[in-house]
Amino acid sequence: MSASKTHPVTNVLVVGVGGQGVIMVSKVLALLCQRQGHEVKQSEVHGMAKRGGAVFSHIRFGKKVHSPTIPTGEADILIALEWAESMRWINQLNPETGTFISDTHKIVPPFACRNRSRNQKAVYSKETPKDVLGKVAQGYALDAVGVAAELGNERAANTILLGVMSTVLDFSVDDWLDVIAKFVPPKSIEINKKAFLYGREWVKEATIPEMNGEVEIEKAAELTNELEIIPAWCKGCDICVRMCPEHCLELDAEQKVVNARPDNCTGCRICEWLCPDFAIKLHKVPVNEKQPDAAMVEA
Ligand code: SF4
Ligand code: SF4
Repeated sequence: MSASKTHPVTNVLVVGVGGQGVIMVSKVLALLCQRQGHEVKQSEVHGMAKRGGAVFSHIRFGKKVHSPTIPTGEADILIALEWAESMRWINQLNPETGTFISDTHKIVPPFACRNRSRNQKAVYSKETPKDVLGKVAQGYALDAVGVAAELGNERAANTILLGVMSTVLDFSVDDWLDVIAKFVPPKSIEINKKAFLYGREWVKEATIPEMNGEVEIEKAAELTNELEIIPAWCKGCDICVRMCPEHCLELDAEQKVVNARPDNCTGCRICEWLCPDFAIKLHKVPVNEKQPDAAMVEA
């Protein structure tokens, strides 16, 4: 797929939630297109400024592009960094020719859990890759975050998706890698290269991943909440302490957050969502695997 006489403008819609790298993905594509001599127009909406808010970016490229906004139902590619976001935007995809690419990774926003008591059901998209992939002209869904974590850095998940997308656009691998290297930290260039090539290879034998429509929080009978705090990243801003509805968190003498009342934690993820420094992560772990003193780990 490329901008040509029969396909004058190519439309790519990148979607996800705050903190995932939607803007990085769209910048890589925009620069790559510019370098190939295309006119590029890009528009972004950052949604809520904090982590967890919806973020999307329109990239349109071709010989001449008049508007930065993709008309409804005319996205040639929808690339989603989060599963529910892919569902939210799927109607933007061209139903005849569009390519759907999504991470199956689920980020359940804290306010999706409307009942704050422990282990209540969250409201989240029930569609599975099987439900969706048969209904689009071309589609790929994979656990990019899981693969990236196995490669050594879960933040390289976006580059795996770029690798998948590269198979439907007419740009060379070297050009892709050259541009990606400009947008990732120097020490992670190698892992991003691996991630990109993984995405390209995966397409050759792409399968539909098994995924049920549940989210972890709904299987909660056997799961419990484990808070991972990374002291090196915590700057003691106090936001999570003040916003935790259950008053679980405190700052210690070094102004680092600690989980002082872990038994009160309902797993609502508000702290994870609000921390500007990614210093808190909530894990749902089987009850019998919970670490007795897992609240703090060194970065
Ligand atoms: S964990 Fe995050 S939100 Fe909480 S005090 Fe530290 S930096 Fe602030
Ligand atoms: S510690 Fe975090 S996840 Fe637990 S109740 Fe407080 S805000 Fe929610």
